[in-house]
Amino acid sequence: MSNKKPFITLDQAQDIIADVPTPFHLYDEKGIRENARRVNQAFAWNKGFKEYFAVKATPNPYLLQILQEEGCGVDCSSYTELLLAEACGFHGSDIMFSSNDTPAEDMKKAYELESYINLDDLTHVDFLQKTAGIPKTVFCRYNPGGTFDLGNGIMDNPGDAKYGMSENQMAEAYTRLMALGAENFGIHAFLASNTVTDDYYPELAGILFELAVRLHKRTGANIRYINLSGGVGIAYRPEQRNNDIMAIGEGVRKKFEEILVPAGMGDVAIFTEMGRFMLAPYGCLVTEAIHEKHIYKEYIGVDACAANLMRPAMYGSYHHITVLGKEDAPCDHKYDVTGGLCENNDKFAIDRMLPKIDKGDILVIHDTGAHGFSMGYNYNGKLRSAEVLLCEDGSHKLIRRAETPADYFATLDITPFYKKLKL
Ligand SMILES: *Cc1c(COP(=O)(O)O)cnc(C)c1O
Repeated sequence: MSNKKPFITLDQAQDIIADVPTPFHLYDEKGIRENARRVNQAFAWNKGFKEYFAVKATPNPYLLQILQEEGCGVDCSSYTELLLAEACGFHGSDIMFSSNDTPAEDMKKAYELESYINLDDLTHVDFLQKTAGIPKTVFCRYNPGGTFDLGNGIMDNPGDAKYGMSENQMAEAYTRLMALGAENFGIHAFLASNTVTDDYYPELAGILFELAVRLHKRTGANIRYINLSGGVGIAYRPEQRNNDIMAIGEGVRKKFEEILVPAGMGDVAIFTEMGRFMLAPYGCLVTEAIHEKHIYKEYIGVDACAANLMRPAMYGSYHHITVLGKEDAPCDHKYDVTGGLCENNDKFAIDRMLPKIDKGDILVIHDTGAHGFSMGYNYNGKLRSAEVLLCEDGSHKLIRRAETPADYFATLDITPFYKKLKL
């Protein structure tokens, strides 16, 4: 039944494990590059198109550099994400700064890097002027309020979301920014998350293109960029259909021809800020079965835990699991696959039908390439795992070492206990 295949075999995994102990997140360079090329191809009709990878999804410099080589920029929302972008050689129009509840030093840093600054609120016009200055180009984030319904069961609730501003506030922001010297403007909105449908971007584009035409008429603002942000989903479940990025790009093109071109705005550049779609399928968490337990249910204990991948515990998310070497074995055993946190929600799978698992088996937890490692935490003194790149030539490279107890205790170095730790 499973049509989800891992991008490594047992032999390949064992080869890496001899070098880097489990658990670790593994990324597939070939898959990442091919997908980035498809994204750029899908929007090649738009002259200024650029994908700004959402750094929060996978903040690793090697991966950012691969995306940079494929023509992507980065979307940052904090000071440290900006530092990482800077270290990777991103600058100016390579960086989109889409933050909210923004600290002054973050805003200053974004301004110094000459990044595109995306204001989350009308009050941030004054805030930007006072903390940094008004750049030539400014983006404003839009929130239409109410509910956003794609009519296929996919719905979200912008009216309850903390982000963005109303149309009237957008108009006022543009007017004030022009008075303060800004010349070019962008619109940004993020209305629904992990949408597994080809309709989301085209629907959002229609809304934002019409908004752009109205705002241009009303304020005279020179709207040059429309940022569709993130939210394009992936098929975490084997029975789900993958989004077709070519169809998505074509859907956005149709709206562009329908709305912007007749309004004389055919030179608007389209931006995206995808995180999940760019990387999630091209990463996996590799972990070893270290215990089995038979009580009222059957449990398999692995050496990874929710601190390495929080999505199942936090959102009840499905992540497909493959037992390497048993890809074609019948799934005739029902297991809960657990980590070792003292939290009963530390389960990568509940009542999952899998092949019989033996201690020492290597499990691949799929689709952890985005919002996986990066959401990690240190609860229960658990340490963050390593990250490994499976290179295009089949070799592998350690792109982040695993944390050690010394990392965990580093911020206690101001206390007398630090010296007593046996590190
Ligand atoms: C999280 C985020 C993204 C990326 O979202 P995905 O669902 O990973 O595509 C893009 N833009 C902003 C502002 C975000 O906060």
